[in-house]
Formats: sequence, structure tokens, C-alpha cells
Amino acid sequence: EAKRLGSGTYQWFSPELDLGTQQQLTLRTQMQEAIAKQQFEVFYQPIVNNAGAVVAAEALVRWKHPEQGYISPAEFIPLAERTGQIVTIGRWVLEQACRDLPKLREHGVGQVSVNFSPMQFYREDFLQSVEQVVREHGIKPGQLVAEITENVLLRDANVSLTTMSKLRDMGIEIALDDFGTGYASLSYLNIIPAQKLKIDRIFVQNIHNNSRNAAITRGVLTMAAELGMAVVAEGVETADERDYLINYACDFMQGYLFCRPLPIAELIDWLNHK
Ligand code: C2E
Ligand code: MG
Ligand code: MG
Ligand code: MG
Repeated sequence: EAKRLGSGTYQWFSPELDLGTQQQLTLRTQMQEAIAKQQFEVFYQPIVNNAGAVVAAEALVRWKHPEQGYISPAEFIPLAERTGQIVTIGRWVLEQACRDLPKLREHGVGQVSVNFSPMQFYREDFLQSVEQVVREHGIKPGQLVAEITENVLLRDANVSLTTMSKLRDMGIEIALDDFGTGYASLSYLNIIPAQKLKIDRIFVQNIHNNSRNAAITRGVLTMAAELGMAVVAEGVETADERDYLINYACDFMQGYLFCRPLPIAELIDWLNHK
């Protein structure tokens, strides 16, 4: 199995849950069923600016398992990446996000952010398929953000940089997700066509009284500003963390403090009562 999957897999990117082989097989078969039966749902988590206005929403997939209830992407995305099922799931998420965008826009959320895995990113038909979805749904420049982790660069920096530029040519913004937790070197920041850096929540946690996290985050904020990129802080859970980030001119924030990821109807409810 490992051999067949070959060297083009990303096993080392996401620490695999400790699932046994049998369990993985079961999950894989169930995922196939889930794709056929459309058991996936997209939740949305608001992204706010430093004045508290909701400017975007991140699409986060959930698997509504018939017996187990909602399963977190942290549990099935790594496996879906290894089996290639992420391609189908990912495309569906992109389509759903584009279908939902008009509703979000009606409620003042102008932009939707979608996660792309390296596995999708390197497919020969990736750009074509994104282009098709964007065209079909009349997505305008600036309305869609592609979230990509820095690890995407490891496999082939030239190809990934070209793909990112082409996404930008389509009017799609690039956000570097989980910034600071991957394996890419800082030198790529000079050439990567990203408009946003999403600083991982491990650096945001307790930022107001963890001087190391604070130093790293302030460094990222300074660097991003010099490079003309905006910063989104992930995983903001407390008012102290938020206030610290605002004080250091962090552009955008996302986290449980503001809102958890919600089904679209609940998000709209939340937006209406905000
Ligand atoms: P991510 O893209 O970095 O998304 C942020 C994760 O942090 C989400 O977890 C979100 O629910 C969680 N989060 C947000 N605010 C807070 C907070 O204040 N505290 C804490 N502790 N967590 C917070 P989620 O939804 O479980 O997704 C996990 C990861 O799964 C995502 O990380 C992303 O890498 C991946 N993922 C989710 N949906 C998709 C998808 O459609 N395609 C791909 N390729 N990956 C996806
Ligand atoms: Mg993300
Ligand atoms: Mg992230
Ligand atoms: Mg993350």
C-alpha cells in the first residue's frame, strides 16, 4: 500500500491519527459512500477586521456520518489526501462555497475562503477545474480566497508559484495558511504571490502573557507589513488575545471568541443578531 501511494504523498504533512490499517480501510470505504451520498457539509467561520466587522468567512468541511455524527476534517482530511479522495471532496467544497457566496454577500460577507490541499493543487486539471467553477458561479475578483499551506512549496516550488500566479490572474486571492508551522524557508516570502498570511493559532495562544508567542507574532506582523501582505490571526479565543493583536495592528482575526464555524443558516442568524 505504502509503495503504491508512492513518493508523491504527503503523509508527513499532517500527523496521521493513530488509526489501524483496518480502521483506515473502513474509513476509506465509508468516505467513498459519503461522497456518493453527499454526507459532507460546509460550515463557515467568520473572519473579522480589527474594527470587528465580518469581512470574510472560511469554508470548513464536516462529514455528517450517519452513526457517528459530525466528524472533524482533522480526522478524515489526512486520509482523504493519501487516498486521493480529497480531490472530489475539495472540488465539492469549492462549489458549495461558491453556491453559498451570494447568500453570504446579502448579509455583508464579501469574501469566502476555501482550503486547498497540496494533492488538489498539483493535479493537472486543477486550474481548469477552479476556472470552471468560478466562471459557472460568476465569482468576481476578490470574492474567493485560496488557502494554501507553505508545505505546498516543498514538492515543486516553481510549479506551485506558477499555479498561485495563475489563480491570482483569475482574481483569486492567496492566503498562506498555518503560517509558521510548515517546513518551507522564509526566503520564499519574497516571491510567493500571497496577499495574506494566516498566523497559526499556536502563536496566538496566550499571546498577551506568553512573550515568545508575542515576539513571533509581532515579527510576522512587521515582516508582512513590509512585504505588503495582510495578516489573519487564527484561533483567537480571548478578549486579551484580541486586544493584544489589535494593539499591534493585526489586520484580521478569526476564532471562537468571535464565532465558531457554523452551518450557513446559523451563521446568517448570527450575522443578523450581531
Ligand atoms: P485550518 O484551515 O487552519 O482551519 C482552522 C481550524 O481552526 C478549523 O478547524 C477551525 O474550526 C479551528 N478554529 C477556529 N477558531 C478556533 C479557536 O478559536 N480555537 C481553536 N482551538 N480552534 C479554532 P477544523 O474546521 O476542524 O479544520 C481543521 C483543518 O482541516 C483546517 O485547518 C484545514 O487544514 C482542514 N480543512 C478543513 N476543511 C477543509 C477543506 O475543505 N479542504 C481541505 N483541503 N482541508 C480542509
Ligand atoms: Mg484554513
Ligand atoms: Mg489555518
Ligand atoms: Mg490550522
